[in-house]
Amino acid sequence: MHELSMAQGIIDAVLQTAENNKAMEVNEVYIEIGRLAMINPEQLKFMLSVLVENTIMEDAKINIEEIPIEIRCSQCDFHGNAILDDEDHYAPLVKCPECDSQKISILNGKDCIVKNIVIEKPDDD
Ligand SMILES: [Zn+2]
Repeated sequence: MHELSMAQGIIDAVLQTAENNKAMEVNEVYIEIGRLAMINPEQLKFMLSVLVENTIMEDAKINIEEIPIEIRCSQCDFHGNAILDDEDHYAPLVKCPECDSQKISILNGKDCIVKNIVIEKPDDD
């Protein structure tokens, strides 16, 4: 399943960052999912909750934000957010909202990234 490998990748990235910063615990994780990353946020959240067991991010609050798809249209030169046909979450049809063309370049919205994490460090004294 796609969400499973994605969840594992996110956890690896978070734990690596936490380790580099000598964190004792990860309190919060902020994740951005592009609408074209083909990720179901609920499933991803579930996978994460299972996979974080026995790690320092076990009790972390997971915040997932879906980000829109940014496009440039080769037909009319529109630049901005595409409107998605929401009928099918996994195979969205991306079109230019101005002229309905599908000749577009996708500039943003294909990735799933860890945007930020909040960690707890040992007291410096
Ligand atoms: Zn257009």
